[in-house]
Amino acid sequence: MTTNNQDLVIGIDVGGTEIKAGFLRGSEIISARRWPTEREKGPAHAVNQVLLAAKEMHREFPEATAIGVVVPGVVNSKAGIAEYSENIGWRDIPFGKLVNEASGLPVGFGHDVRAGGVAESMYGAGKGYKNSFFIPIGTGIAGAMVIDGELFDDPYCGEIGHLDVVSGYMCACGIVGCLESISTGPSIVRIYNEQSDIKLSDSSEVLKAAKGGDALAAKVWQASVDAIAFTLTAYINILAPEIIIVGGGVSKAGRDLLDPIESYFDRRLTFQKRPKLVIAELGDHAGMIGSGIFGLRARG
Ligand SMILES: [Zn+2]
Repeated sequence: MTTNNQDLVIGIDVGGTEIKAGFLRGSEIISARRWPTEREKGPAHAVNQVLLAAKEMHREFPEATAIGVVVPGVVNSKAGIAEYSENIGWRDIPFGKLVNEASGLPVGFGHDVRAGGVAESMYGAGKGYKNSFFIPIGTGIAGAMVIDGELFDDPYCGEIGHLDVVSGYMCACGIVGCLESISTGPSIVRIYNEQSDIKLSDSSEVLKAAKGGDALAAKVWQASVDAIAFTLTAYINILAPEIIIVGGGVSKAGRDLLDPIESYFDRRLTFQKRPKLVIAELGDHAGMIGSGIFGLRARG
């Protein structure tokens, strides 16, 4: 890795609650800032918050040679357009053009989860592997596919959270049965609370209760993990990754998440090439670091 001033870049990761911005050199975060997204004030306001972050970061760090911005939802990175975000509420925002006008810098624009996958692939748990799958499990579930060393970047790809795992629960997408309806952090908590007198507020508390002998908690955790493992075996059978990198809030469970997935693989994988299964290394910074990579690539 070269480390000269040509590598200095601004990376911006836009979430539903906050905008995380970093002045970066590769995976090194030289300085970080946060802005509220304030999506409750409407999508136009949220767009302005992103442009404000871009402007202020460029003013503060004029040495940056490029800027990257990544957002959730349906993202057309080649056209530089955020087509749709249910979470923030915007449609067809030409961020590539707007951020360029706001900052004067070359802009790399992309999807937040796919940015995280590229960052893990280059600097994190996927370093050295050509075929990886990054799956953050948080308030939603999506995946980033690196195939033969290249990110697959179709606007609609990677929506593994909406595979039918026959959960019996309604998903935010409007149909019953999706992985997201049973295995996200909020889903795990919701399913437990529906059946229990004790009300918990985080998936880590469900896991803690399960480990403390709460049979309902153990059942809910196991069902959630089995659904994740099922979808991963689907991915393994189709794309044969060398490594699967699990991230997001639920991945803080560590071995308590990975071990039952490995047990499922023991039962369901026979002749297949078995991938390594690991926890992500870059944590909450993966999207921001990935946006910086997109920025440098746009600069060329
Ligand atoms: Zn769904």
